[in-house]
Amino acid sequence: MELQAEKTRILAIHAHPDDIEILAGGTLTLLAAAGHTISIVTMTPGDCGSADLPSDDIAAQRRNEAGSAASRIGAEYRCAEFRDMSIFNDDASRRRVVEILRRNKPGVVLTSSPIDYLCDHEATSVLVRDACFAAPLRNYTTRDVQAAAPLPAIPHLYFMDPVGGVDRDGQPVSADFYVDVETVFAKKTEMLARHASQRDWLMKHHGIDDYLVMMETHTRDIGQRAGLKLAEGFRRYKGHPYPQTPLLEELLGSQVAV
Ligand SMILES: [Zn+2]
Repeated sequence: MELQAEKTRILAIHAHPDDIEILAGGTLTLLAAAGHTISIVTMTPGDCGSADLPSDDIAAQRRNEAGSAASRIGAEYRCAEFRDMSIFNDDASRRRVVEILRRNKPGVVLTSSPIDYLCDHEATSVLVRDACFAAPLRNYTTRDVQAAAPLPAIPHLYFMDPVGGVDRDGQPVSADFYVDVETVFAKKTEMLARHASQRDWLMKHHGIDDYLVMMETHTRDIGQRAGLKLAEGFRRYKGHPYPQTPLLEELLGSQVAV
């Protein structure tokens, strides 16, 4: 009889459609290939990500793009329906994020860096961090009409790299460990390429003329820090009640470099 390795539910939650593909698309591809269940959640549908389309139109397009990217690795996609530049660490927002966690029941949560270039990324990080703490509390209600049950425990929490791998002063943010994504880089690129609307918008707003090249440069820069060709970095959240066993590192096995 063959032993079935235990599978884990993994939730990646970041601010906008495409952040997860850029910062963790390779790692999620490896985890999906190992049979783990992957869910991708964005806080907003990227409703400010267009210089031409009204917000509802670009939001609809970007939900479709994010769903298509997630489907490349058999992942589920959901939008938490906050709005761009309007993610705040307040009572209602924390309850909404806790409800997402309770419905998803993750063993591992990957979220945005606490320090990053964009307010939405930083607000997402603190909301997810605190929602992980609140999700098992029996007396904490989300006030949802169909509220899911509290989680059995705080999930393992990891932060992705900030965009560009640097803080607001341009200083490198070191990861605890790096995941070698060279073997799955084509799939990571394929996922990001599904976000067709963003190539055009980045050209107009940021003056960056190649979306996919920008992602490859980022992934190479992170790889260089670990002596790898292409990598993604992660930090395990060290807060005292949060699980400190290296679950994500164990799931990724030989793909991990310290
Ligand atoms: Zn973003």
